[in-house]
Amino acid sequence: MELINPGASLFIPDCALLPDALARTTHMAIMAHQDDIPIGAMYGVLQCFGSRDKWFTGVTVTNGAGSPRDDLYKDYSDEEMRAVRAAEEKKAAYVGEYAACYLLDYPSAAVKDPNDPNLVEELKAVLSICQPRIVYTHNLADKHDTHVGVALRVIRAIRELPAEQQPKAIYGCEVWRDLDWLTDDDKVGLDCTPHENLAASLMGVYDSQICGGKRYDLASAGRRKAHATYFASHGVDESQSLNFGMDLTPLINDPSLTPGDLLRHYIARFQDETTARVAKFE
Ligand SMILES: [Zn+2]
Repeated sequence: MELINPGASLFIPDCALLPDALARTTHMAIMAHQDDIPIGAMYGVLQCFGSRDKWFTGVTVTNGAGSPRDDLYKDYSDEEMRAVRAAEEKKAAYVGEYAACYLLDYPSAAVKDPNDPNLVEELKAVLSICQPRIVYTHNLADKHDTHVGVALRVIRAIRELPAEQQPKAIYGCEVWRDLDWLTDDDKVGLDCTPHENLAASLMGVYDSQICGGKRYDLASAGRRKAHATYFASHGVDESQSLNFGMDLTPLINDPSLTPGDLLRHYIARFQDETTARVAKFE
């Protein structure tokens, strides 16, 4: 298949043939950077790992050229970092038994430009070939501009697809902001308890980002542990490892709803719940 961005590539870990390799996709994560999938969308990987009828396709939007670097990698050029990060993503795709792994290779500036037409068209083509039932991307309250840019492009791409090609659900995931603040009714629980070893293995391959001193591997596992325990204040933990998702599906089902409207809706419900509790006891 033709990809619009000249630097974009497709990796199929088990060497299955096209188009079946892509058509088998049931779950897809579309994230900004090379390690964002196992940090935020591990649940999607786990839904498909070892399954006969569910397949996970990972889409990484940016090229990794501007990645921070230290230690072993501190003298690497932007081009060398781009190559290292692409190799790390392919290692994760192999270990996680992904159906396919897209490296779309866009610069972050293009992701943040709402008028850049190529990324939305690229995502539409990928979505229309793979036709996932469930899509994971970044949540709208993430504090990283590129993450929010990716989420908005994904939403636009899905909305521009014919209805029969649209996924049934889309969830915003936790990377550069937890979703613990969502009211419990609004949280989508993404239970990552099975195969915690697999999550550790996937995170472990992103050496270029971890060995500079940012322990994303430990932090992501710790966040899941904390969520599992603090989700309910009574009783025993039902999950040992939990991520939360923000349900973005209303943006597929209601074309008049804007992403900003939906985010304000969730924030208003958080505000109402917390201020009502204070009002009850002050
Ligand atoms: Zn990221």
